[in-house]
Amino acid sequence: YSGKKPGQDVTDTMNNMKVKDFQSIPVVVREDVSVYDAISQMFLDDVGTLFVVDKNSHLAGVLSRKDLLRASLGSQNLSSIPVHIIMTRMPNITYCTRNESLIQAAHRLINQQIDALPVVEEQPDGYKVVGRLTKTNITRAFLSLSENHDL
Ligand code: ADP
Repeated sequence: YSGKKPGQDVTDTMNNMKVKDFQSIPVVVREDVSVYDAISQMFLDDVGTLFVVDKNSHLAGVLSRKDLLRASLGSQNLSSIPVHIIMTRMPNITYCTRNESLIQAAHRLINQQIDALPVVEEQPDGYKVVGRLTKTNITRAFLSLSENHDL
C-alpha cells in the first residue's frame, strides 16, 4: 500500500481544502504611496498583486502589474502620483476568507479573470487583510492532490 488514498476520495479532499491551508502572506501598501514606490515594492517582495490599505489598515484597493504598467505609460513623474488614483477600489474588490473552500475561491479568480484575491477578516468598520490567494496557490493545491492520491 502506497500510503496514498484511493482515487474516489479526491473529490472529498478537494471539497475539504480551505483557503487558509494554501494562502500566502499578503503584501500591502498605504494608499498614499507613489506609483514609483509601489513598483519598487512589487519587485522587492516578488509578488504580482499589491493590496492597498487606508490609514486604519483596512482594505481600500488592489494594484496589479498591468495597473502599474498602464500608469507608467501615461505619465512621466511616477513619484508624484499616489496609488489610490490608479488602483481598483472598494467596493469593487473580490475577496475571500480563511475558512472558505478553495474551490469557491478558485471560481472567483476565474469568473473575475484576476490573478489574486485578498484574504480578509471582517471588522466593524472595514476589512483587515490577512492573506493573499493567487493562481500559484491553486496550482500548489492541484499538485498536493496528485501527491496524496493515486491519480
Ligand atoms: P494584470 O492586470 O496584471 O493582468 P489581474 O488580471 O489580476 O492582473 O488584474 C486585472 C484587473 O483587475 C486590474 O485592473 C486589477 O486592479 C483588477 N483586480 C485584480 N485583483 C482584483 C480583485 N481581487 N478584485 C477586484 N479587482 C481586481
